[in-house]
Amino acid sequence: MSAVGQTEMITSSIVQPRQDRVRAQLELAGRLGALAADARDFTDLFRALHSETARLMDATVFLFALYDDASQTVHVVRQIDRGIEHEGGSFPLGKGFTSEVIRTGAPKLIRNWSAGGPPVRLLYGTETGELVAPQSGCVVPIMSGTRVVGALSAQSYLPEAYDDTDQLSLAAIASQAGTLVAHLRVSEQMAAEHERHALELEAVLAAMNEALLIVDARGAIVRLNRAARELLRLDGASLVFGQPLEKQRLEGWPASAREIAAALVPVVESIRADRDPTELEIELDPGKPRILNVGASVLRSVDGAVLGGVIVLHDITMQRELERLREDIFAMAWHDMQSPITVIRGNAELLLRQLTSHDRDRERQKKAASLIMRHADGLSQLLTTLFDISCLEAGVLSISRWPADLGLIANEVAEGIRSTNGHDIQVVVPGQVVGEWDERRLRQVLTNLISNAVKYSATGSTIVVTVSSDGADASVSVRDEGIGLDPAELEQLFRRGYRAEAARNVRGGGLGLYLSHGIVAIHGGRMWASSPGHGLGSTFSFSVPLGLSDTADTTSTARA
Ligand code: ADP
Repeated sequence: MSAVGQTEMITSSIVQPRQDRVRAQLELAGRLGALAADARDFTDLFRALHSETARLMDATVFLFALYDDASQTVHVVRQIDRGIEHEGGSFPLGKGFTSEVIRTGAPKLIRNWSAGGPPVRLLYGTETGELVAPQSGCVVPIMSGTRVVGALSAQSYLPEAYDDTDQLSLAAIASQAGTLVAHLRVSEQMAAEHERHALELEAVLAAMNEALLIVDARGAIVRLNRAARELLRLDGASLVFGQPLEKQRLEGWPASAREIAAALVPVVESIRADRDPTELEIELDPGKPRILNVGASVLRSVDGAVLGGVIVLHDITMQRELERLREDIFAMAWHDMQSPITVIRGNAELLLRQLTSHDRDRERQKKAASLIMRHADGLSQLLTTLFDISCLEAGVLSISRWPADLGLIANEVAEGIRSTNGHDIQVVVPGQVVGEWDERRLRQVLTNLISNAVKYSATGSTIVVTVSSDGADASVSVRDEGIGLDPAELEQLFRRGYRAEAARNVRGGGLGLYLSHGIVAIHGGRMWASSPGHGLGSTFSFSVPLGLSDTADTTSTARA
């Protein structure tokens, strides 16, 4: 062989292993790089690192640990011994080889354990019975920049299983692992962030009083919160997530949910068409009216594409009721105050004229003064009623319970009304009917019932007021021979502002019975009415518990 040939052979025998190594390293980089996309967690990464290590060297025992600098703790992700994978665990940075490598950041080769190294257990926490110690090991740090973030450790039960080349290979794997660890930590952090955001959103949605529906770009319902479920009264079976509203099996839905769904179709249409829907109101079920306000907005991605929409339904029945009450009260006040004010104004003017003209007609003066007083009282009573009604509606009508005799109250109220009109008012009371009630309020109720009986029956007819008690409740009924009521009217009697057709030619505002019903309800009682029909008279009754055990001030929470 020529000298040149010899040199070439020597050169190629040096170059060949180097090329192989470079190729192996590049392949390794490629394979581990691909793992970055695949590894979902550190366990996946451990398995990939082990199989990669086993391709290049003896990895009978293999360990992958992460290091937390803040707590100076080594977390063994997982470990493998003779083909059996074991759970990891944690230990504080100590004196063993893994700790030493982590502390110094320098790799460590243990060629012959029993000859040179201290008796250190390499497989963390798995030994049972007699310890079979590995004979050689190779431990390298996993770095992220200049920081040690963990270690890889390969061990063998054979002595001299590793040399410098193995240490270099394991270091190459560890350097890839460094990038993958950083990548996984970021994804783990992001996953935790996402989970936190999702939980926060879930909590906000669940706590919302408004019903909320989220639809996707096709208009399919993808989410609804607790309030929406309650509003639609849907169970899991009747709502199909991912289905557009029009494709839902609506026949299985409650009637009100079907009404809402029908009203929402144009809203969802707008979302699909990328038009911000206009706010609308849905009026449900005339029997028990409910008004829902619907607001919606389109959800768009950063590039403007429609992702879906959020629909918010807000029950504004109460708000509307209060607005209507305010309007009613204002209208009633306006209507009912006109005539007393005119009477008061007229008679005051008359009095003034008489005083200035030295007219001394005492009778006319007395009449004018008493008219002023009566109408001023009427005005004050009207204002009290309006105030009580607004308190009742707002749930703040209060009662003060004291022992009172309902028979006595009935007699006194009847007496007061009897003196001003021509009806035959009879009161039937078995004796004392004592209970703990708000006397002023029950007086108001009795005044309303007896004066209604007077108002809606002919002069000279008989009105019978009966008071009784069964030991638990006291009952009162007021029977008249007046205009009577038909079944449809009886049903609506206790609604605010209700007045039967036949009653329209008599002055009134339809508030008395509503308030009386509310007062009785606050006392824990009930009120009802009966009538054989138009022209045949009617009977209005109520009963209240005697309530003798607990004397207390009660504030209304129930609305009539
Ligand atoms: P108002 O008498 O001022 O209209 P109420 O609330 O006291 O207000 O009564 C409501 C309606 O109930 C009356 O307008 C009338 O139609 C009916 N009503 C009340 N009491 C009687 C009665 N004794 N007989 C027949 N209808 C009555």
